[in-house]
Amino acid sequence: MYLINLGIRDTVAAALFDLGVDLGAVEDVEEDPGLGNGGLGRLAACYLDSMAAENLPGHGCGLRYRYGFFEQGIVDGRQIEVPDDWLKTGFIYEFRRPEEAVEVRFGGTVTTEINGKLSYRHENYESVLAVPYDVPFVGYRNDTVNALRLWSAEPHRTEFVCSATRRNDCLKTIDYKNAVEAITSILYPDDSTRDGRVLRLKQQYFLTSASLQAILHDIDRRGLPLAGLSDHVAIHINDTHPALAVPELMRLLIDERGFGWDEAWQLTVGAISYTNHTILPEALETWPADLFQELLPRIHIIVNEINERFCRELWQRYPGDWDRIRAMAVLADGAVRMAHLAIVGSHSVNGVAQLHTRILKERVMSDFHRFYPDRFNNKTNGVTHRRFLAKTNPQLAELIAGTVGPDWITFPCDLLGLLPHADDPAFQDKLAAIRRHHKSKLAALVRDNTGVRLDPDALFDTHVKRIHGYKRQLMNAFHIMHLYNRLKADPGLDIAPRVFLFGGKAAPAYQLAKLAIKFITALAGVINNDKTVGDKLKVVFLENYNVSLLELLLPATDVNEQIPTASREACGTGNMKFIMNGSVIIGTLDGGNIEIMNAVGEDNIVTFGLTADEVLTLYERGGYNPWDVYNADPRVKTVLDQLVSGFLPGGPDEYRPIFDSFLHHGDHFLVLKDFAAYVDAQKEIERRWRDRRRWLGMCARNIAHSGKFSGDRTFTEYALDIWRLRPDTPVRCYCSADEDFARSQSGCILPRRPALQATLTNAAYN
Ligand SMILES: *Cc1c(COP(=O)(O)O)cnc(C)c1O
Repeated sequence: MYLINLGIRDTVAAALFDLGVDLGAVEDVEEDPGLGNGGLGRLAACYLDSMAAENLPGHGCGLRYRYGFFEQGIVDGRQIEVPDDWLKTGFIYEFRRPEEAVEVRFGGTVTTEINGKLSYRHENYESVLAVPYDVPFVGYRNDTVNALRLWSAEPHRTEFVCSATRRNDCLKTIDYKNAVEAITSILYPDDSTRDGRVLRLKQQYFLTSASLQAILHDIDRRGLPLAGLSDHVAIHINDTHPALAVPELMRLLIDERGFGWDEAWQLTVGAISYTNHTILPEALETWPADLFQELLPRIHIIVNEINERFCRELWQRYPGDWDRIRAMAVLADGAVRMAHLAIVGSHSVNGVAQLHTRILKERVMSDFHRFYPDRFNNKTNGVTHRRFLAKTNPQLAELIAGTVGPDWITFPCDLLGLLPHADDPAFQDKLAAIRRHHKSKLAALVRDNTGVRLDPDALFDTHVKRIHGYKRQLMNAFHIMHLYNRLKADPGLDIAPRVFLFGGKAAPAYQLAKLAIKFITALAGVINNDKTVGDKLKVVFLENYNVSLLELLLPATDVNEQIPTASREACGTGNMKFIMNGSVIIGTLDGGNIEIMNAVGEDNIVTFGLTADEVLTLYERGGYNPWDVYNADPRVKTVLDQLVSGFLPGGPDEYRPIFDSFLHHGDHFLVLKDFAAYVDAQKEIERRWRDRRRWLGMCARNIAHSGKFSGDRTFTEYALDIWRLRPDTPVRCYCSADEDFARSQSGCILPRRPALQATLTNAAYN
């Protein structure tokens, strides 16, 4: 990306070529930074790229994990987890800045002193040094270089010496060193044990405390008054993990800078804004208050105070309505509710797709929306087209530049200029040749890695993302089984040859997701080795899904599976990366899919299934009876019976937990409920695929409309609407996804701030 953004990729490639070195081979040696585990971390990286491209002074803060999310191996069909030692050969793009290290304190006791005014003394704490490593983010052919600041935890005190006579001191030193280094040792430590949970809370505090201290130092260095904090800095908390930014900023302003509560609160709320990325209950974290008290005693006092003042405000508005006050409190039933803390302490709360924001406002956070109606807004996600189109698919980038001109990288809405060519056979043939090139390349890779031979002219259908119940990889697998059953019953059946590609990691403690991987690989084994099926059906599970693998799949994918249970996928970003490369989505009416459908038109996407409102209503009623579907639809019955009949190697009980999750535990993600609609949607895909010209027209239209899903558009919306940041360059046409936003821009009615720094904090960057 550095080479592309500096505009020197061709020059460097030519120079290396003269030396007999292939640039692509050099790129392949580089490891993906082990800083994220899925869409959220990747999105943050996209936004850093977009902010630099847009000349916005926006920096990121994260943790420099020694080990990233595990590397996945598939052995005998099972996922194995290998430590991701991404720093083993060094990371040449980081700069260690020991002179900017700050101290972060854990544990200890807090006592109050009244010395003219009330103050707090924090003693006997464990002191940890936070050392920053800065990774530059270079803007696309401009003069902007921003930083991703990654904090590393290092031991602070060195006064204990190891010697034979001071053995106990020595052991203490070792314990201390290990405890400190654990803080930034791994991404997402296992939180099923108390120790694991303590470690996660430590990570969250370490990130927010170090980042906020650095921001305040920066303001001091610039000689700016802290009293104007929110005029000079915007602090954005990316998802709920860094919600401790709220009490930590209060602590720094009150204890270390002498502000009174009211002024500190005004500055805090004025500076902080919050993005909610998911409504899955497990992501709306809560922490036991006693853990808070033990690990972060001063923060615990501040959170109590925030809660009391907030509850008082609620009481004034809703006198006597205890149920509502308890439901909205920041601290209740012995738990700190991090999402509530983030909402109360921010001036802006946004969702990441129109539907998701509506669900936040009307359902999940409706009490808060009623109380703070002006705080809620939407910012539909976007991804960097520089990486996921220009870098990933240089041949397509060249075809685009030759068709609409070279400015599309700076103005992604120029992609709309492809529309008049979408049905032009000459253009379509060029597009088809590029797609075939990438499909052949992928087929060669699959053959080398797995021995499975793929026909590049078959329909390539990919389903790549984290393995999770709501993402419904099993629905896809059940449809494949159904196709296989049809082919077995009638070997002469005329179906378009299909290749199904899966990829994704399952969380190490998520047993059903791991079993789903095993099931898909077992199914692949049966189908790929069945001579009666031949080339009509191939199934491959690609190991260790990451950005590098995704970059191979994007340009080679005909159909992309985006089939979550409606309402569960806040937005999704995989969908956007795929349409940029001309894939056609088969998807549910959820998150970003809806906005993609509105952009590309219903003729250029295939949608199916229950709507979010239907799903949410069904959940409110306590679900449905999956046996009704099982008994009524013989296709469903056959496939489910095969799960427990020994149809797959491994014995009849191997996959019983999957069978049980559908029939005995209520099919929570509504796979059986949506199955018939999904099979019909797959038939519609096949019907369209058989008309080659129509298909290529769909590819072209998806690419043409993808400019709207560039992170550049999203970030201009954040910058102007939430951070009130004045861009150096005039606002461009952003084909805004949000009509209200577009209108507010045309009048330029937003107050603009002077020099401003936007800071994102997040537990996991990729
Ligand atoms: C984009 C991306 C994701 C998110 O994909 P979804 O389909 O939105 O879940 C996950 N992992 C990687 C490596 C990505 O690049």
